[in-house]
Amino acid sequence: MTAFFRKPAVLAAGLGAIGLAAASQLYQKEPIKKNTLGLSPLPKDTSVVFVLGGPGAGKGTQCANIVKDYGFVHLSAGDLLREERQRKGSPYGELINNIIKEGQIVPMEITISLLHAAMKANGGTRFLIDGFPRAIDQGEKFEDEVVKSKMVLYFECPEEEMLKRLTKRGETSGRVDDNIESIIKRFKVFKETSYPVIELYKDKVEKVSCMNTVDGVYNDTKRALEKHFPSK
Ligand code: UDP
Ligand code: MG
Repeated sequence: MTAFFRKPAVLAAGLGAIGLAAASQLYQKEPIKKNTLGLSPLPKDTSVVFVLGGPGAGKGTQCANIVKDYGFVHLSAGDLLREERQRKGSPYGELINNIIKEGQIVPMEITISLLHAAMKANGGTRFLIDGFPRAIDQGEKFEDEVVKSKMVLYFECPEEEMLKRLTKRGETSGRVDDNIESIIKRFKVFKETSYPVIELYKDKVEKVSCMNTVDGVYNDTKRALEKHFPSK
């Protein structure tokens, strides 16, 4: 799905852009400045849907359905970070791996640059941005420097259910964070840092309950999506 990311030039261009300015902000704890990433503009008709929900809520599964029926491009922030972690020569590989294992949040300059580079490389105009923003400042920065989101799809899911799904997924996923220690840390970060994003965007959030069959959830998802993207 993100095969273009195997083109090192695309990634290098994206990450090169974050450069020293971003690094100094990261490590000197300066307040976030505007337009510091220097990202090139996207086409004016670019539409973004943020797809949020706790770990294991079903974001990836439902995004795949939407891609099939509505021609969106699906970009999972977590997948992009995992690809960057694997990329030979990436200066961020170890940093990303440690942060993911700890269930913490990767510095947004990295994630936003990866998302922007993926959007550019793909060339589409409708994007599902899955698993991002994970904190209020990430959303603000993305909307300032890349594009405003049109709506937010929020998959609401009780922790017990997410735990069940993640434990099951952990049997085969090979992910460094699908184990009980990491899962507990991810739940805590979701509650404390990521959930407030839903409140920030309350005027454009559509909540969908995950407590149904995949098809049932998808029916609700379609209804929510079509409020903002009416089908012709
Ligand atoms: N992550 C991050 N920033 C993002 C998206 C993901 O730092 O914008 C990291 C974070 O450590 C998270 C991990 O990547 O716990 C896995 O994210 P993913 O979205 O793949 O997990 P999911 O929530 O879908 O289970
Ligand atoms: Mg996911």
